[in-house]
Amino acid sequence: HNDAFEYPRTPQDMDWTEEHYPEPPAGNSLQPTVLDIGCGFGGLTIALATLLPKETVLGMEIRAKVTEYVRLRILASRKENPGSFQNCSVMRTNSMKFLPHYFKPHSLSKIFFCFPDPHFKRKNHGRRIVSERLLSEYAHFLKIGGRLYCITDVKELHDWHVEKCNAHPLFRRLDDEQVFKEDPCVHAMSVETEESKKVERNKGSKHYAVYERIDDSEAP
Ligand code: SAM
Repeated sequence: HNDAFEYPRTPQDMDWTEEHYPEPPAGNSLQPTVLDIGCGFGGLTIALATLLPKETVLGMEIRAKVTEYVRLRILASRKENPGSFQNCSVMRTNSMKFLPHYFKPHSLSKIFFCFPDPHFKRKNHGRRIVSERLLSEYAHFLKIGGRLYCITDVKELHDWHVEKCNAHPLFRRLDDEQVFKEDPCVHAMSVETEESKKVERNKGSKHYAVYERIDDSEAP
């Protein structure tokens, strides 16, 4: 149903102000700098707005009704807390297809993949949101030193994330314990998404991996 998606011809043609960030905090980028890809019901997108006040956060979600739910949730948060949550928004799109229409190279500081759909069957592995090809896209949009975060309760999918990211020349894995201590986003992504809360209730395990976008000159 790709014909259902409207998208700008180039990132330069995209106006983020009116629909997404009508009253941006002073000093913030007017374009997104942090993506919550497959944001679902938006718990992390909203938490990141508070955790990262200097960043401009965008949740991306393919399901129309879920996107609308998050949009209303953000509007309600803004209304209840005047001046807050102006640095987060949500957009309905297929992030596996349309990122290049929205984002400029090296414009993002963080990309989150929280509890993505596992697509268990081998013939569906091509639909996974972390893949060799898409990692090159994500590297293209991340700033040098920017971070890519993956978390899942599916061990097999976690192993896939680690295998694909480790193999990619433009990403370097950060030490699990150290990054947990030093980067509050790691805790946030383990507790703030709706899926993470479900996993918690069911006493499931959560596996994460965080990668840094390295300079092309440092690549092996
Ligand atoms: N991250 C959320 C959380 O942890 O609660 C949601 C996890 S849910 C299992 C995966 C989400 O990714 C679903 O809401 C789904 O609609 C969305 N999704 C799947 N493919 C997508 C795509 N190509 N572009 C954008 N969103 C996608």
